[in-house]
Amino acid sequence: MQSVVLGRLAEDQGRSLVQVGPCTIGAHRLVLMAGPCAVEGGAEMVSLALRLKEMGVGVLRGGAFKPRTSPYSFQGLGRDGLVMLARAGEAAGLPVVTEVMDVRDLDLVMRYAAMIQVGSRNMQNFGLLKEVGRTGHPVLLKRGLSATIEEWLLAAEYILAEGNRRVVLCERGIRTFESHTRNTMDIAAVAAVKGLSHLPVIADPSHGSGRRELVAPLARAAVAAGADGLMIEVHAEPAKALSDGQQSVTPEQFAVLLTGLAPVAGAVGRSL
Ligand code: PEP
Ligand code: MN
Repeated sequence: MQSVVLGRLAEDQGRSLVQVGPCTIGAHRLVLMAGPCAVEGGAEMVSLALRLKEMGVGVLRGGAFKPRTSPYSFQGLGRDGLVMLARAGEAAGLPVVTEVMDVRDLDLVMRYAAMIQVGSRNMQNFGLLKEVGRTGHPVLLKRGLSATIEEWLLAAEYILAEGNRRVVLCERGIRTFESHTRNTMDIAAVAAVKGLSHLPVIADPSHGSGRRELVAPLARAAVAAGADGLMIEVHAEPAKALSDGQQSVTPEQFAVLLTGLAPVAGAVGRSL
């Protein structure tokens, strides 16, 4: 991968740590990012944030601008959602991550979120990548739906080349012929990218499978493969979620997932 320059893992250079509020990504301790697919209401967001904080979550997630396949599906609460997410984060003492889909919303999103998510569908939105690269804000760059590892690393390079070195990569499953799962979680990519890049890599088994029952086993697999953290969709009442309910776990299920994850983390020298 000749063209990957700034993000390439070099022998004489250590791995990057990315600081998001009080949370360090890429260190010994795994970073848990959790929350609903979309912010749906202020009170629900606060109570969930408090529960997640108690369980050891380091970054609160929640979408306000949602990239939905259909324009008729719930699009997120926009600015109101950002305010609710930020308030919940403040109430729980957690930094928040949320997606930006449009360069015109970048300043607004940065005002409310400690970390900016560039979603799969925008992984090669080069204008957006350059703009987030001109900020000093931490960026979570999700792998594109059908992006090769090289394309993903080159997308990160766009951000790095503009001067923003605070990039975290997120494997979230890719499109394959398999239809049992929403996406095929590319566990090999987690290990491969850890070998190719100094940037922290996290995994999103929620979008990676699209199925609640597969989130815990894939979370264990990703950590075993070297992931620096996980992004998991958690909803108090998944059956009522306005998006991605079928892949969301309840806080109770999330607690069970963490119990099962601890020994795997320990086996690869990480802590929860
Ligand atoms: C999300 O995190 O809710 C999301 C839409 O992710 P992705 O871009 O990976 O589909
Ligand atoms: Mn989602």
